[in-house]
Amino acid sequence: MLKREKSNALFERAKKYIPGGVNSPVRAFRAVGGDPIFIKSAKGAYLYDEDGNSYIDMINSWGPMILGHAPEVVQKAVMDAVPHSMSYGAPSAKEAEMAELIVSMVPSVEKVRMVNSGTEATMSAIRLARGFTGRNKMIKFEGCYHGHGDSFLIAAGSGVMTLGTPDSPGVTQGVANDTLTAPYNNLEAVQQLVDTNKGQIAAIILEPVVGNMGCVLPKPGFLQGLRSICDAEGIVLIIDEVMTGFRLAKGGAQEVFGVKADITTMGKIIGGGMPVGAYGGKKEIMDFVSPAGPVYQAGTLSGNPIAMSAGLAMLHYLNDHAESVYGQLNATGNALVTGIQSSLKKHGLNYTINHMGSMYSLFFTSSEVVDFETAKTSDTVLFGKYFRAMLEKGVYLAPSQFESLFLSTALGQKEVEHILQASDASLAEIM
Ligand code: PLP
Repeated sequence: MLKREKSNALFERAKKYIPGGVNSPVRAFRAVGGDPIFIKSAKGAYLYDEDGNSYIDMINSWGPMILGHAPEVVQKAVMDAVPHSMSYGAPSAKEAEMAELIVSMVPSVEKVRMVNSGTEATMSAIRLARGFTGRNKMIKFEGCYHGHGDSFLIAAGSGVMTLGTPDSPGVTQGVANDTLTAPYNNLEAVQQLVDTNKGQIAAIILEPVVGNMGCVLPKPGFLQGLRSICDAEGIVLIIDEVMTGFRLAKGGAQEVFGVKADITTMGKIIGGGMPVGAYGGKKEIMDFVSPAGPVYQAGTLSGNPIAMSAGLAMLHYLNDHAESVYGQLNATGNALVTGIQSSLKKHGLNYTINHMGSMYSLFFTSSEVVDFETAKTSDTVLFGKYFRAMLEKGVYLAPSQFESLFLSTALGQKEVEHILQASDASLAEIM
């Protein structure tokens, strides 16, 4: 059994002063059983906890640490920036450099505004779409998560789905009335919503590859179909690349699938581990944002110089090494998924693995997982057992069935072998 004394004591202390003892719900391990582990430091592929245990990290801060923990290139940029003050609240060169770099990497983005989280990015993108179109309603997909803005906490995935409270108290009926939901991968349902709300829909927002009901891929033609519906109806297509941006390719899922958003929301990797988000898109839409246009959006720390330095170092690295980084991530993903699949077959377990590049999820179900309903057919009790068995063997998975894993380039041959052995032994234990 892992030593847990210090983590347990810290959790008791944290619970006295922090709601549930954590600053983001999924960290509490409620969906998988057991108490959370408190991390002391992390380097490369590994997390080190307060009790001296180490774990191979399979979530990498839910995505941002695509190069593993504390990569030198990002660390150095931050260290170099610190002596020049932590914040100016006035424009700086790095903000212009960042915007230029994002525009060069993400083909559909012509102008971009920096914010401080993915949630801010999606909230601002929706306001902009409403301001631009003069319409109120939006369509989102059941099980997709776009941060904790009120209008997105309707049939949301991620931690909300895990806790079994898809609609949060505090979100008003008025807000909920403007959010229409459709099953993921179901173009007919979207078309029906559009037809029955003719001329009222400002935006369709989606995760182009979902990470927040576990990993779910778009069916062939789904993204292109949404693009066509939006074009036909004057609806703003918002592709939420907070997870997939700079992860599936340097131009995100839009590069992989050849579809262009009107507005793209970004976060996670874009800050190199610092709290950064961004939304960007067509010039004519982005020029509606204040002070160029009438849609208000602001931020005391937006474009913060330390955060920009970390993000710039990360994005420059990915841009300059795209072939090797994404090649390596895809190879690691393939090796893990192939190995885990053969072990699952050997043990005779029902499973579905959804996988794209460095994102994948194992569902304990015989169903194909294409949307929220089919994701929910997974045996979450068995998943909890698998999670706990893996943790004991030094592998830190996402503590919820309804989350994707996020691999990093710090995972080498040694780590892949460790994960596969741990997984095989864990599957044998939990059957
Ligand atoms: N959009 C997507 C697709 C996400 O996965 C998340 C967070 O996981 C968000 C938005 C919200 O980002 P943040 O947690 O930085 O507010």
